[in-house]
Amino acid sequence: MKKAIVTGGARGIGRAIAMQLQTDGYHVYVFDAHHAANCLNGVVYLDVDVTDQKAVQAAVAQIGPVAVLVNNAGITRDGLFVRLSPDDWRAVMAVNLDGAYHCAQAVLPAMMRQQEGVIVSISSVVASTGNAGQTAYAASKAGLESLTRSLAQEYGRWGIRVNAVAPGFITTPMTELLPESVQQAACARTSLQRAGTPNEVANLVSFLVSKKAAYITGQIVHINGGMW
Ligand code: NDP
Repeated sequence: MKKAIVTGGARGIGRAIAMQLQTDGYHVYVFDAHHAANCLNGVVYLDVDVTDQKAVQAAVAQIGPVAVLVNNAGITRDGLFVRLSPDDWRAVMAVNLDGAYHCAQAVLPAMMRQQEGVIVSISSVVASTGNAGQTAYAASKAGLESLTRSLAQEYGRWGIRVNAVAPGFITTPMTELLPESVQQAACARTSLQRAGTPNEVANLVSFLVSKKAAYITGQIVHINGGMW
């Protein structure tokens, strides 16, 4: 059975992706900062913090070659830029960008030997639009998209595809913390007039991982219900 790693897969979008990839026939390993309270049967949960390069390398060595990596772990530290502390800036970059670097670098050598592999990273609509109050988060996601395009160019010759998904407003524990008025405003900005679901993002990741997307690489695929 082919193996897939999903970072931050204990809840929200990552949990939906882990569940979908399992349905697609993968043996799924979740890297999360904490063990999942609501574990999925058959999924292996490893207490791996993606900001810790050595921990990521050790976990990947333990798992062996993987066919799929989904860089989903992400955090945000919202607020006015002039008040953004160095610690908050670093924390966002460490998870959203360094984490993807650590995981991609750990899985790529085996993917190169196998002459196949797929990496999908979860970006955000704000990487392209920017967002007042989310400067560090938006910058980290823009970096993730650039990492995606560069990795696609560097590793395509080994049959490895690298893409990113840029969700708009998706109902998860992360967004449920936002004030009701902010959630309503985000939904109102979409053509479909509603938030997306984690399963809808997971379906797109499933497609990008599949052979149906065999000629798609280096792309940022938006899933936002029509949000401009
Ligand atoms: P959640 O906060 O609900 O879930 C994120 C998961 O990542 C949590 O389980 C969290 O664990 C885990 N995590 C955080 N830091 C680390 C770390 N250092 N190592 C391993 N795991 C970690 O977020 P969402 O499901 O909403 O978001 C998932 C991804 O989708 C993120 O990258 C986010 O930026 C992106 N996204 C989300 C959107 C939305 O509207 N929800 C929109 C656009 C993009 P813990 O319990 O420890 O916090």
